Amino acid sequence: MKKFWLIILFIIIIIISCDKVNNPEYNVDKSACNSCGACVSICPIDAMEIGEDGKAIIDQTKCNQCGKCIAICPEDAIY
Ligand code: SF4
Ligand code: SF4
Repeated sequence: MKKFWLIILFIIIIIISCDKVNNPEYNVDKSACNSCGACVSICPIDAMEIGEDGKAIIDQTKCNQCGKCIAICPEDAIY
Protein backbone atom coordinates (compact mmCIF):
# COMPACT_ATOMS: atom_id res chain seq x y z
CA MET A 1 0.00 0.00 0.00
CA LYS A 2 2.90 2.35 0.78
CA LYS A 3 4.30 1.68 -2.70
CA PHE A 4 0.96 2.69 -4.23
CA TRP A 5 1.04 6.11 -2.56
CA LEU A 6 4.66 6.64 -3.55
CA ILE A 7 3.72 6.00 -7.19
CA ILE A 8 0.78 8.46 -6.90
CA LEU A 9 3.11 11.08 -5.41
CA PHE A 10 5.61 10.53 -8.21
CA ILE A 11 2.89 10.96 -10.86
CA ILE A 12 1.68 14.20 -9.23
CA ILE A 13 5.23 15.61 -9.21
CA ILE A 14 5.64 14.73 -12.91
CA ILE A 15 2.33 16.44 -13.79
CA ILE A 16 3.27 19.61 -11.89
CA SER A 17 6.70 19.68 -13.54
CA CYS A 18 5.22 19.33 -17.03
CA ASP A 19 2.73 22.13 -16.32
CA LYS A 20 5.56 24.49 -15.38
CA VAL A 21 7.51 23.64 -18.53
CA ASN A 22 4.47 24.08 -20.78
CA ASN A 23 3.21 27.22 -19.04
CA PRO A 24 6.18 29.39 -18.18
CA GLU A 25 5.50 32.78 -16.64
CA TYR A 26 5.49 35.79 -18.93
CA ASN A 27 7.35 38.85 -17.71
CA VAL A 28 7.87 42.49 -18.68
CA ASP A 29 11.27 43.95 -19.45
CA LYS A 30 10.72 47.28 -17.69
CA SER A 31 13.68 48.88 -19.41
CA ALA A 32 12.02 48.24 -22.78
CA CYS A 33 8.41 49.07 -21.83
CA ASN A 34 7.28 52.48 -23.15
CA SER A 35 4.10 52.55 -21.03
CA CYS A 36 1.80 52.58 -24.08
CA GLY A 37 -0.81 50.39 -22.37
CA ALA A 38 -1.56 48.28 -25.45
CA CYS A 39 -1.00 45.08 -23.49
CA VAL A 40 -3.37 46.19 -20.73
CA SER A 41 -6.06 46.94 -23.30
CA ILE A 42 -5.77 43.64 -25.15
CA CYS A 43 -5.48 41.28 -22.17
CA PRO A 44 -8.76 39.33 -22.17
CA ILE A 45 -8.75 38.64 -18.46
CA ASP A 46 -7.42 41.92 -17.01
CA ALA A 47 -4.18 40.31 -15.91
CA MET A 48 -2.11 43.38 -16.82
CA GLU A 49 -1.91 46.88 -15.44
CA ILE A 50 0.40 49.86 -15.52
CA GLY A 51 2.23 50.08 -12.22
CA GLU A 52 3.21 53.13 -10.19
CA ASP A 53 6.50 53.28 -12.08
CA GLY A 54 4.57 53.63 -15.34
CA LYS A 55 5.59 50.18 -16.54
CA ALA A 56 3.39 47.19 -17.34
CA ILE A 57 2.89 44.49 -14.72
CA ILE A 58 1.54 40.97 -15.23
CA ASP A 59 -0.55 39.42 -12.47
CA GLN A 60 0.86 35.90 -12.52
CA THR A 61 -2.09 34.57 -10.55
CA LYS A 62 -4.43 35.53 -13.43
CA CYS A 63 -2.30 35.20 -16.60
CA ASN A 64 -3.12 32.17 -18.74
CA GLN A 65 -0.20 32.69 -21.14
CA CYS A 66 -2.47 33.38 -24.13
CA GLY A 67 0.31 35.45 -25.72
CA LYS A 68 -1.86 38.37 -26.90
CA CYS A 69 0.17 40.94 -24.98
CA ILE A 70 3.41 39.61 -26.47
CA ALA A 71 1.99 39.86 -29.97
CA ILE A 72 0.82 43.46 -29.57
CA CYS A 73 3.73 44.96 -27.65
CA PRO A 74 5.51 47.43 -29.99
CA GLU A 75 8.73 47.20 -28.01
CA ASP A 76 8.94 43.41 -27.64
CA ALA A 77 9.08 44.10 -23.93
CA ILE A 78 7.14 41.00 -22.87
CA TYR A 79 8.87 37.66 -22.83
S1 SF4 B 1 2.52 46.89 -24.80
FE1 SF4 B 1 4.71 46.67 -24.30
S2 SF4 B 1 5.50 48.78 -24.30
FE2 SF4 B 1 3.25 48.92 -24.15
S3 SF4 B 1 2.81 49.00 -21.91
FE3 SF4 B 1 2.72 46.84 -22.54
S4 SF4 B 1 4.80 46.06 -22.14
FE4 SF4 B 1 4.93 48.28 -22.16
S1 SF4 C 1 -0.41 36.36 -21.84
FE1 SF4 C 1 -2.62 36.77 -22.18
S2 SF4 C 1 -3.57 36.53 -20.15
FE2 SF4 C 1 -1.37 36.75 -19.80
S3 SF4 C 1 -1.07 38.93 -19.43
FE3 SF4 C 1 -0.72 38.56 -21.64
S4 SF4 C 1 -2.71 38.96 -22.64
FE4 SF4 C 1 -3.10 38.70 -20.42
